[in-house]
Amino acid sequence: AVSETAEEEECSVYIVGGFVRDLLLSVPTQDLDFVVEGSGGQFAQALMRRIPDGKLTQHIKFGTAQIIFPDGSHLDIASTRWEHYSFPGALPQVEESCLRDDLFRRDFTINSMAICLNTERFGELVDYYGGKQDLQQRKIRFLHNISFIDDPTRMLRAIRFAERYHFEFAKETLDALHTAIETGVLSKLSVERFTEEVLLIFKEVNYLAMGQILVESGLFKAWFGKELAWNFNLDDAENSRDWSINMRWLVSVSQMKSYEIGTLLERVILNKSLRDETIAYVQLRQSLMERLTISEMDRLLNKAPKEVVIVLARDERFKVRIMECLEAGQRINMSLDGKALLQMGLKQGPEIGEILDRVRMAWLEGRISTLEEEQGMARQ
Ligand code: ATP
Repeated sequence: AVSETAEEEECSVYIVGGFVRDLLLSVPTQDLDFVVEGSGGQFAQALMRRIPDGKLTQHIKFGTAQIIFPDGSHLDIASTRWEHYSFPGALPQVEESCLRDDLFRRDFTINSMAICLNTERFGELVDYYGGKQDLQQRKIRFLHNISFIDDPTRMLRAIRFAERYHFEFAKETLDALHTAIETGVLSKLSVERFTEEVLLIFKEVNYLAMGQILVESGLFKAWFGKELAWNFNLDDAENSRDWSINMRWLVSVSQMKSYEIGTLLERVILNKSLRDETIAYVQLRQSLMERLTISEMDRLLNKAPKEVVIVLARDERFKVRIMECLEAGQRINMSLDGKALLQMGLKQGPEIGEILDRVRMAWLEGRISTLEEEQGMARQ
């Protein structure tokens, strides 16, 4: 359908960026990015006539369009464009251009290749900047030496791609990365864009190695204004594959002092669930430092998000107490609930909750261990 639409619209269409890179590396990829030499918007509309189950959204200002399919997958279509940065870290100003310029505005040579989709040139690789050779030599190389200054998110992207594919940096690219860190270019980046790139790293299988480089290179220090005690321990590599992003994040901050986590939260914008869990983690850790009865502990552990409890149970200081409390919780064999108490003649009201609480605590503390004792206690 794409080739036919390109013929009909008399324009050249290419698939670009990550898809081409991953195709040449023979690794699976999901996103499809098309660029059109001509009007991307017009091409997208024409393509829609051939794929009626897609839903089209257009962003006229950026010359881009997106077709979303019923299964949630999507196709991004853009006109070939050139971007200017009015100041470092700014959002780019967009102008139409030819494919060569469009590919030159990209981050690294390995991401700057295109494959033509027009019928007579179908499958032709367009590689102006040596992307294929860099893929073969396993190199991350920028396209020009002010690349990191134009867009500092590329520093994080460079580290992400290098570790994802086990590539090395080309010498000038590595030098430029270090210079950019030292000269403070990161301070031009918005908190939103920084956070977005950092969280992409936490989604990667080998995020721990990436995290270590972010720390060792001084990039995190430059961003957060001080050294924070990040925990990116490669011993967790196996286990962390199944961890959620929140769990990975909580483990990574688990060796920071509370005030350090405070500094961190001021320099990132997290979604609500991640922010709430980070705060819940700090609060619960603080509470566990104090002497708590098993009932108090049970209450706190029940209230906290599951991931927060799991991360705290990894901490040698709390491990034994948390496990004891959770095991005691499992031994509770409570038969009573609100309905049962109403049937026993109690009136609806706060008293029901209080009784249930009291009975649960008695189970937990081992003061009752049979259903008869439980019934007796409820009647008191
Ligand atoms: P991933 O596998 O992580 O999705 P990707 O290469 O597909 O990698 P995207 O973020 O989807 O990454 O970007 C698509 C393409 O857009 C990239 O391949 C690259 O050509 C270009 N690109 C993305 N971000 C930048 C950037 N900050 N500067 C320059 N080009 C970029």
